[in-house]
Amino acid sequence: MSGIPFGIKDIFCIKGHEATAGSRILKGFKAPYSATVIERLQSEGAIILGRTNMDEFACGSSTEHSCYGVTRNPHDLERVPGGSSGGSAAAVVDNMCLGALGTDTGGSIRQPASLSGCYGMKPTYGRVSRYGVIAMASSWDTIGPFARSVEDIAIIMQILAGHDSHDSTTPNKPVPDYLSALKGGVKGLKIGVPKEYFGEGVTSEVKTAVMGAIDGLKKKGAIVKEVSLPSTKYAVAIYYISMPAELSANLARYDGVRFGLGLDKAVKDLDEYYELVRGNGFGDEIKRRVIIGTYLLSAGYYDAYYKKAQQVRTLIIEDFNRVFKEVDVLCAPVAPTPAFKLGENLANPLAMYMADALTIPVSVAGLPAMSAPCGMSSGGLPIGLQIIGRQFDEDVVMRVGGSL
Ligand code: GLN
Repeated sequence: MSGIPFGIKDIFCIKGHEATAGSRILKGFKAPYSATVIERLQSEGAIILGRTNMDEFACGSSTEHSCYGVTRNPHDLERVPGGSSGGSAAAVVDNMCLGALGTDTGGSIRQPASLSGCYGMKPTYGRVSRYGVIAMASSWDTIGPFARSVEDIAIIMQILAGHDSHDSTTPNKPVPDYLSALKGGVKGLKIGVPKEYFGEGVTSEVKTAVMGAIDGLKKKGAIVKEVSLPSTKYAVAIYYISMPAELSANLARYDGVRFGLGLDKAVKDLDEYYELVRGNGFGDEIKRRVIIGTYLLSAGYYDAYYKKAQQVRTLIIEDFNRVFKEVDVLCAPVAPTPAFKLGENLANPLAMYMADALTIPVSVAGLPAMSAPCGMSSGGLPIGLQIIGRQFDEDVVMRVGGSL
């Protein structure tokens, strides 16, 4: 890593530097310590060039919800780079740095990697320490790299992965040698193609590019078969219950007293203080999610919504467990469409949420998945292949990525 230039999503703490997660409410907050992943990269000699733009508190799919303004897609400046880690994806694709860090809660590494045209790896939940990273939805959050080659992903993952005594969700499991795993090839590997990932809303160009990549893997000796994950259709609904509930609990700490933005003027009571700081400090999308999340967690609704969502979450996990008895990995599209236009989905949150319909199921089950470039649309926009593995099978996922 010596001398390798890196971009870091504005959600990672670096001691002595401002960390704002794209939010006005954290303006002026300087991190008192560095995230474990930052310390690991720096101790290997990586150079952190700067902080990359993101949707506020990682909530979004387009990098349009940032207090600093939008990030554009390097392939077409009128289009979004994807999100929420859009700044990291765009910086890597535009050659501003060799690698970048992002976070993926429901798709925020894979979807921008797909829309901007680079590799992006979401590891298994717990494979990479989240210590020193601003929390979004704690039972979903993961951290991973963006790079321009699968080799670079392997090199960066080797440094990031592994147990950290500061994060009790990281098990003490050995980390395989990812670079040598890459060379394994796909001969005899069983690849499942989940039919639910090619349904309504997925454009024919995306289907063609993804099926083309899968055919290529077949020619290299992989055994390809269609599989079914029937509970896929519930994933977005589960996510948009569980995530806002956890987000609203995490964001309750931004009270204008302990972190960032404060208020100079006199107020009549604490409620007015909170109203002014949060009213001014949070953007619209965050307010929407905090209101929904607080409602979902209130007495009487918790069981009906949060608990129910947790139960349905199990159905999706069982779907994956079942197909992973028959196949070693799954290959599917990352996003239903190539990059959409700036502003196109801003007035329609539901349309924006559907951009993650194919990445969220993987997050429900905490599985590892990589987005790998697999073609271009007729309009010159990148299309990504999603390679999904069993828990802690990052090496198998990279092996497939390395065989494309
Ligand atoms: N786009 C999704 C959302 O808006 C996922 C975000 C993420 O993975 N951080 O919540």
